[in-house]
Amino acid sequence: MEIYNYLKLKLGSTGLWDTHCHLNSGEFTPDIADIIENAKQEEVKKILDVATDLESSKQAIDNSIRFPLTVKSFIGIDPDVFIPSAKMFKGFEQSEQFLVSLKNELSTLLEQNVENVIGIGETGMDYYWLKDKPVLRENSILLQEKLFRIHLELAEEKKLLLTIHSRGTEKRVLEILKEYKVLGILHSFTGGFDEAKEALNNGLGLGINAIITYKTAENVREVYKKLLGKIPNDAEPEWFYKKNIFFETDAPYLSPSSLRGKRNEPKSVKEIFNFVVNNFKF
Ligand SMILES: [Zn+2]
Repeated sequence: MEIYNYLKLKLGSTGLWDTHCHLNSGEFTPDIADIIENAKQEEVKKILDVATDLESSKQAIDNSIRFPLTVKSFIGIDPDVFIPSAKMFKGFEQSEQFLVSLKNELSTLLEQNVENVIGIGETGMDYYWLKDKPVLRENSILLQEKLFRIHLELAEEKKLLLTIHSRGTEKRVLEILKEYKVLGILHSFTGGFDEAKEALNNGLGLGINAIITYKTAENVREVYKKLLGKIPNDAEPEWFYKKNIFFETDAPYLSPSSLRGKRNEPKSVKEIFNFVVNNFKF
């Protein structure tokens, strides 16, 4: 409920929200105005534009200034910067200086854009790509955690919501989160029932995206069925928000079946919402 109240206040609306997407990724540069219009046509009221690095943080802020009625931004640095196989991997050298300057730069951006930046992220940790790399793994985990903590400190200081990426790290992420007084949504949550329950008990939110519609994701559907029970036929998005369950697209990634093979966009949050209601209803 706390996250729902926070977002309702910051967004000035209820209704269907895409709580995690990357409008700031270069993929939407040519037609962002059309993409926002498409979302409005599907009754999507608000879009949270989530950054992955400093450049995209600035782009997300620009988007929220350009489309103030629909878009709000989240700024932060994805753990990928410390994951050796990732495209944005920056190496482990000079990471300490990087972390210090990063906190200052994010802090300045936050102070200059109080109206438009409503959250911190994407941040979190990811062990998925570290299999079979013992030495790199140790270094990567250490730095990912430091980077995550910078975001947690900023969120605590500035009282901002976090959008948290966690893949194969749910236990550690939940443990670390307990050390801070923060609100956060575990976006694209695909962990088990016990982790989901623990997150909700700790006041955290869970983000559902098109993964729940995939044939291979029976385990994800089982977790949410167990968490939600039967959903009333006429359930509105708020019914879920009050239970700390939110919807997102992660666009341009994770397209639902209607956009298979194509770039995903925020309008498909409607399809994801409908899928959940229609599959789990009374
Ligand atoms: Zn994302």
